Amino acid sequence: MTCRVVRASDQKSDATETFDERAHELLKKYLHLEQLIEEFFQLVNYCYPKCVKKQRGKTKAGCCARNYYIFHPVYLHSPAVRLFQLMRTAKYGIPTNTEATLSDGYQACNYHEPTGCILNDYKSPLCISFFCDKGIKWLQKKHKITFDAGNIQKLMYDILMDKITDKEYSELELRLQANLTKIKEAQ
Ligand code: SF4
Ligand code: SF4
Repeated sequence: MTCRVVRASDQKSDATETFDERAHELLKKYLHLEQLIEEFFQLVNYCYPKCVKKQRGKTKAGCCARNYYIFHPVYLHSPAVRLFQLMRTAKYGIPTNTEATLSDGYQACNYHEPTGCILNDYKSPLCISFFCDKGIKWLQKKHKITFDAGNIQKLMYDILMDKITDKEYSELELRLQANLTKIKEAQ
């Protein structure tokens, strides 16, 4: 995961901005695939028991040790990204959580609480697609699922940046559905 210093003000968007149909369409497409990934990770259930759970009264941040929900400014010229941010803030508010330093010595993301991330949707492409090497190896070994986090992350950004082709979108959707089916069958 790329590290960078972020400020809470980075996520502010202009609430008076109006968005065209395309921005809404891209956001809808993003949220659809995001749900497939979210459901997949909920069923995989790797992070909380293996990484985030409380240890000696303190939570671990896992990989959520920075505000990765904030988009790098290079993405903000996309109307779909600005709409994404507005919708997230409308649904979840500007996060105020400032968990004390965690047992692994990091300050958790503002959306991170003792049970993990509070966002059920509107996770950034970086957040929704990230899975650490240890988790990826475990997934491959236990479920024979190849999770290409870098490629998924790129394509999720591409959706919001209006750079993904219909073919790429369909292929990604099929891949995510196949992963989901496989993990459901393993339950
Ligand atoms: S992806 Fe890896 S480092 Fe991040 S919370 Fe899950 S187990 Fe921990
Ligand atoms: S928004 Fe959620 S997934 Fe992303 S860094 Fe924060 S707690 Fe982690």
